[in-house]
Amino acid sequence: MRIITDERCTGYSHPGHPERAERIIATWEKLRCQTELPITWSQPSPCDEAAILRAHTPEHLARLTKPEDFDDDTPSYPNLLEYARASVAAALDALKAARAGETVFSLMRPPGHHALRSRAMGFCYLNNVAIAALEAAATGAKRVAVFDFDVHHGNGTEAILLNKPDCALFSIHQFPCYPGTGTRNLGSNCFNYPLPPQTSRAEYRHVLASALEHLRAYKPGLVAVSAGFDAYARDPLAQGSLEAEDFYWLGQSLRKLGVPLFSLLEGGYSAELPELILTYLKGVEGK
Ligand SMILES: [Zn+2]
Repeated sequence: MRIITDERCTGYSHPGHPERAERIIATWEKLRCQTELPITWSQPSPCDEAAILRAHTPEHLARLTKPEDFDDDTPSYPNLLEYARASVAAALDALKAARAGETVFSLMRPPGHHALRSRAMGFCYLNNVAIAALEAAATGAKRVAVFDFDVHHGNGTEAILLNKPDCALFSIHQFPCYPGTGTRNLGSNCFNYPLPPQTSRAEYRHVLASALEHLRAYKPGLVAVSAGFDAYARDPLAQGSLEAEDFYWLGQSLRKLGVPLFSLLEGGYSAELPELILTYLKGVEGK
């Protein structure tokens, strides 16, 4: 398992914000102190600006350098654009590693799946997974699927990939919940699986299994995973019901698709996040 991460992604913080550097620091410790899953660590390469501009406007990149908050959830930080670009770079490296036949996870922040083409929102500034999916499609991949199991709807990914040839989005999320979208399918390629708050674990698993079956029927050539761990039963930001072994099952199910696969960290705010990530990665690795 290759883990792409960078000390620099813990360099910014906002008091009391749930999307905090400790999420990554605790996961480094967890992964370094275990021996069941052999890990190769790497740092992201320099970022490819052209890849970012397939998903975002130049005006949006300029806005990320201004010291003004975007909304209450999404503060501005000094050097924010550099942090966001490093997270994108890790996603693009994960794509390359997947194409080379590696199992790979991008352990970076900020997350990306709420970021729109020209708007930061929901802790997200640049849409890492959409940028990587468009890069894959632009460089010859056919039928690129984004599978988003974060408890929140991947609204930014949907907006950026909507009706894009050779791309599709499958998002399983709580509704009603932030950001309030994802109630129905959109266009020819965005498939949404909304679940009410407090959905039972059995029903949640059933809907995830349906989405995985739909993903398989799409016959993807490559799968990018928005891996959020906030559908966990004890996550403080939503009312999901999944347990650690469900994330193992998700990793295992995605591996069984038998196509190049890479995963990027999105949300996950419980103290158990490091354990949930490790469990998911064991499933992806087939351990
Ligand atoms: Zn989330």
